[in-house]
Order: sequence, then C-alpha cells, then structure tokens
Amino acid sequence: MKIRAAVLEEFGQPLVVQELDLGEPRSGEVLVRLVACGVCHTDLYTASGVDPSGYAPCVLGHEGAGIVERVAGDVASLAPGDHVVTLFAPECGECVHCRSGRTNRCVAIRDQQGLGYLPDGTTRLSRGGEPMRHFMGTSTFAEYTVMPEIALARVSPEAPLEGCAPFACGLATGIGAVLYTAGVQPGSTCAVFGCGLVGLGAVIGARLAEADRIIAVDLSERRLESARHHGATDTRIAGDDVVDWIREETGGFGADYTFEATGSVHVMRQAVEAAREAWGLATMVGVAGKGETLDILPRLLITGRRVTGASFGGVKGRTQVPQLVDRWLAGEIDVDSLLSHRLTLDDVNRGFELMEAQDGIRSVIVFE
Ligand SMILES: [Zn+2]
Ligand SMILES: [Zn+2]
Repeated sequence: MKIRAAVLEEFGQPLVVQELDLGEPRSGEVLVRLVACGVCHTDLYTASGVDPSGYAPCVLGHEGAGIVERVAGDVASLAPGDHVVTLFAPECGECVHCRSGRTNRCVAIRDQQGLGYLPDGTTRLSRGGEPMRHFMGTSTFAEYTVMPEIALARVSPEAPLEGCAPFACGLATGIGAVLYTAGVQPGSTCAVFGCGLVGLGAVIGARLAEADRIIAVDLSERRLESARHHGATDTRIAGDDVVDWIREETGGFGADYTFEATGSVHVMRQAVEAAREAWGLATMVGVAGKGETLDILPRLLITGRRVTGASFGGVKGRTQVPQLVDRWLAGEIDVDSLLSHRLTLDDVNRGFELMEAQDGIRSVIVFE
C-alpha cells in the first residue's frame, strides 16, 4: 500500500514527507494505522546525526498510538480494531529477561531492530522498489506502520489515542523509572532533575508512589510550575547550589531517591551527590552524549549511595503500559496538560523546532 511518511534523508537536514510503499504484515506482524505520534528527543537526536547508531534514509518516530488494521494469520493476541501503543522496547514474554521480574530488556528481536529491520531481517518499507529501513522497530512518523506483535501494547479503547502516544516513550519512561526501576517507597523524599516530559513523568510517578516530598529542579520557572501542578511539593531553579540546597532541606542527608532526566552528565553527577547517605538511590534516565562519562567519587558509594538507570523506565511494555493508561483513565494522571502542540505530519520539522526552543512539553502529530 502507499503511505505518507516523514523520511530522514540526510543527517542534520529537515525530514522530508513523501509517499512510500508499505508491505503487508508477515508472520508475527501487525499493520497499524497511526492516529497520533509524539515528537521525542530521540528522534531529534538521530536526525541531527549525533546518534552513533543512527542511519539514513529511514522513517523516524517511535511515540505512536493507533488502531490495528490487519494482522498476519499467526497473530493471536491482537485483532483489527484494537487500540495499541507502539513499543520500541518489546516484551516477548519468553526470553531470559522477559521471564525475569527485574528488567524490561527483552532480547527477542534486539539485533535486527537495532539495524533497522523487522525480526525476519527484511523491511516492509520501500521506495521505488528499494528497501528503506525502519527506526527503533516503530517508524511511526507515518500514516501506517508494520510492527511485530510483541512490540504493541493493547490499551483501553476508552483512552483517546492522542493522550496514549506519550505512554509510548517519554511519559511512561518517567513514571516507570520511579515505580519499576527505583521502586520508590511511600513516605520517602524524591528529587527530580529536569522537568521535560520524562521528568514530569517522574514527578507523577513519585506522587503515585505516595512519596512524601517531591523536589523538582529545572532551569525554567514555567516547567517548575508544571511540576507543581503534577505533584511536586518543592521546586528549585537549577544551578551549582542545588545539591547543597537539597541536603539542607533534608536534614543534611539528601533525598531517598533522585532521578536525572536531562541527559547532562553534570546534572547526573548532581543527582548522585544529592542522593542520601546510607540508602539513597540515584536513577539515571536521561541519555548522555556520545562518549561522555559520569564522574562519581567512590566515597559516595562506600557510604551507601547506589546508582542505577533504565531504558523506557524499566516498563514491561505489553504488561504495564495498559496499566498506566488505566491509571490515566481513573483520573490519577493528567495527560492533557502535557500535550502542548498538535501538529500535522507535514509539520513534523516544526515539532523539532519547538523542542529545541523548549516551547511546551510535548508536540503530538495527529493524523487525519
Ligand atoms: Zn522517545
Ligand atoms: Zn523478551
């Protein structure tokens, strides 16, 4: 079938919206009609050429939500009409990591996905007979996509799909880092560095985990206001004095849990230093630049701080994304206030501009 999609032709250049061919779903695959797709930093990171594993041409986009159009004959868990959230982190349920309760690092299709192929080592996308590679196994800056069944989470049909899109990446990453990676205990103190969509997700997660104090740190007063709306009890403009301030505010010790959601290694170091002596846990969620390293004084570890990290917040996508969407429907999460701009597919580059200008929290492409 013919589809319209936003193609990364060349690094550092605007995406080009054009017509492509999309093949029928093969064994274990599903054809999805996209209804909405968020524009995430990882798309921009790859488009800019900074991502060492990036390749072009390809169809970007990974924060998608849509409706199942057709399934291959051997697909049992999804049917036409199902509402789905796309997962760049699949959940096969059978691999050594899926069987463990400790991680979401499914290894079932990792190698082919990283190279831009579907699990059978081919692509469904093509142009003039030439195959075009997929991106993150999702390629959701497109009217339709073909994805593996194990990379689609079926969500409640009651949930508006525009609001489901951020659960495909940024929002679920922040909430998951708190609930599933750190396992925040009720009554604890959390500090969140960075209040973009991921950081606000962490603030929301800390509230859902019944943290007693939720400290939010950001350079922007507007974002701190947003953090307060979502549950932050204390806010602070970012700066070199922020670690000392958090220690003072917590009886000289530091926060029980800290979360880094900016991707700056300088801020990561602050998140480690602001974690409490004896049992503080610092969770790294932001993606650092190529080749950057995190400096930690070993004394901070010997005195009981721990450092961890997660991709997609440790969320087991097929199991837990539907649960998070249900919590939104139950009124526990305010998704609407996170969607700042609605764009058409043709405006996709505008989504990148808004992100670079830090204008709003999340731009969402809404398909006609
Ligand atoms: Zn993302
Ligand atoms: Zn797996």
